[in-house]
Amino acid sequence: MVKPNSTLVPMDIDGDSGMYLSARWISRIAGAAASARLRPQQITREMIRKALVYQGPGKKALDQRPMPEIQSTGDAIVKIVKTTICGTDLHILRGDVPTCAPGRILGHEGIGVIEQVGAGVTAFQRGNRVLISCISACGKCDYCRRGMYSHCATGGWILGNAIDGTQAKYVRIPHADTSLYPIPQGADEEALVMLSDILPTAFECGVLNGKIAPGNTVGIIGAGPIGLAALLTAQFYAPAQIIMIDLDANRLEVSKRFGATATVNPADGEPAGTVLRLTGGRGVDTAIEAVGTPASFETCQDIIAPGGTIANIGVHGVKVDLHLERLWSQNISITTRLVDTVTTPMLLKTVRSQKINPTLLITHRFNLDQILDAYDTFGRAASTRALKVIIEA
Ligand code: ZN
Ligand code: ZN
Repeated sequence: MVKPNSTLVPMDIDGDSGMYLSARWISRIAGAAASARLRPQQITREMIRKALVYQGPGKKALDQRPMPEIQSTGDAIVKIVKTTICGTDLHILRGDVPTCAPGRILGHEGIGVIEQVGAGVTAFQRGNRVLISCISACGKCDYCRRGMYSHCATGGWILGNAIDGTQAKYVRIPHADTSLYPIPQGADEEALVMLSDILPTAFECGVLNGKIAPGNTVGIIGAGPIGLAALLTAQFYAPAQIIMIDLDANRLEVSKRFGATATVNPADGEPAGTVLRLTGGRGVDTAIEAVGTPASFETCQDIIAPGGTIANIGVHGVKVDLHLERLWSQNISITTRLVDTVTTPMLLKTVRSQKINPTLLITHRFNLDQILDAYDTFGRAASTRALKVIIEA
């Protein structure tokens, strides 16, 4: 919450007391009103939007911001219907993501309705319901032409990072034609919120990179939303065994309902020994790292079978040890990846045909006005048992 001072003007435009707009925002709104030949009293609530704003490490607020505007012909303005909070947003709030500057509206997931499109947008028009990809892609640059949208020269993971994100009433989406997906008629829109980021991330970085195959043995370290999404999508390939490893007993219980064949809690003793026992001493063909800590990467190296693949998904903030003194002769591969969201159209079809049900991941629902409570609930997952929270804008 911004405190009132001489440069801030109290606003009660949206019926909320205690919210303030800075003089800079007021002048931007007044400028927009003037260019639209509106008198000041015609400035309506549509010109501002509530938004969750990152204010520097450890600080965030539900603030009011002017409506986003079309900046480039390929842009679309999307009115958010539902959004969610990602573990990555918590990383930003801890100050781990230097590309995200204070003042940024967070959020890179959600669904919405097209409000306005730039002159160059041909695939969408006002009123279309759309799924927002966490990765923005121009579709034309060298990386995009190779399907590596995550490294798009003018896109990649910029939403809620380098540009304002989706935890707001409205968002500007650059490269709209190639960064939005039409929502099919009759689709479960809450399920589709899981397709902005966590399902393609778990599937591309964990399952595809991990080369999961029928009859294989899989270990997934971390049973948070991403690890559970890997557990759901790994089953496309019918592995014989999927072993989930996590310290949270509740999440291990959930894992069993999602199809895990065994669960291992490191609190009960050294996890690698248990996994080796469960796999006849061989270890796993695929180890998916879905935590992002040195200890979990260490576990992957302890449980990988000869010829296996360690597929990293976790966001690592510090260095890890690589035990080449043991692994040099074991024919293993280690993969890393930022999600490209190239599988989003395929995943949309699997959700529509009910091959997987990502709504299993949704545990809590809030309104945008309650987003600070949503962060609190999501941030204390061990006690609240939160997996994914849905926020209605
Ligand atoms: Zn995310
Ligand atoms: Zn590109």
